Amino acid sequence: RAKMEGRGTYRFFEATMGAEVRDRRLIEHDLRHAISRRELSLVYQPQQDIKTGKTTGFEALLRWQHATRGAISPNVFIPIAEESGAILQIGEWVLQTACREAVSWNSDLAVAVNVSAVQLHTANFASLLHEILFQTGMPAQRLELEITETALVRDFDRALATLRQLKALGVRIAMDDFGTGYSSLSNLRAFPFDKIKIDGTFIKSVDVNEQAATIVRAVLGLGRGLGLPVLAEGVETASELDFLSAESCDEVQGYLLGVPADIGQFRHLTHETAAGAVPVIARTPAQ
Ligand code: C2E
Ligand code: MG
Ligand code: MG
Ligand code: MG
Repeated sequence: RAKMEGRGTYRFFEATMGAEVRDRRLIEHDLRHAISRRELSLVYQPQQDIKTGKTTGFEALLRWQHATRGAISPNVFIPIAEESGAILQIGEWVLQTACREAVSWNSDLAVAVNVSAVQLHTANFASLLHEILFQTGMPAQRLELEITETALVRDFDRALATLRQLKALGVRIAMDDFGTGYSSLSNLRAFPFDKIKIDGTFIKSVDVNEQAATIVRAVLGLGRGLGLPVLAEGVETASELDFLSAESCDEVQGYLLGVPADIGQFRHLTHETAAGAVPVIARTPAQ
């Protein structure tokens, strides 16, 4: 009897494992066709200067609309793409698309693109990016790359060399999801970062959660000490924003300020008339 239960348990285990593995295989397989089937797109989420309330740029976030399964979260498919290597092609598509789209905006707002560790560690990443900037006509200063620390711990020397090459191109580099994963304070000093992004998990309820508040204050102090601006991710409520403002956080991003959406939703920001500029229509001399 024990033997039978054992077998039953084993079979159940095998069956669920099988489903998971099959699921991964399907995603892995379908991802290879996602670009040619035009199932990938980018949505954009505004990033705001906390003092002026002005939009400083947008983070590009990848979306996959699968033909039969509907939307699949990047939290699900990015790790699979990283394991299978598909991230190289997908990541290149993301960079190319984000640059091409940003060039079409009638503004010089920045665009922040997430770059995977796997991409960063390919031999020619900096030259690939150089090529993309050249082809799309994207000014390097408008591009920011968001990199997580996980990307750096793999091979310190190589990561440092690549980040230096990227900086030489003129792009900026933000440390994404700071406070999670392999956070190491020495990384902040060793690598040429231009910005720290505090992970959204610390921002949630930061106005009422004393522990979260302590961590956020510490990161803000760290940023000040190192001369790095700090952006808080995942800002959802006005009181979270108030807290961040009172603590002199530099920039904010989150559902409160704008949910990630098709760039057309932000036309008022990307096609703003520069302050003080004469509207085109007024340039025609009055008869
Ligand atoms: P991330 O780079 O840290 O992006 C922030 C995530 O938080 C996004 O999820 C965004 O939609 C979500 N978010 C923004 N505001 C709020 C808020 O107020 N509250 C909450 N709860 N969430 C908020 P998303 O778009 O699902 O992306 C998840 C992760 O997938 C990203 O985290 C990033 O690590 C990865 N990812 C997305 N697009 C790309 C890409 O093009 N390339 C690579 N390599 N990774 C990407
Ligand atoms: Mg990011
Ligand atoms: Mg993040
Ligand atoms: Mg994240």
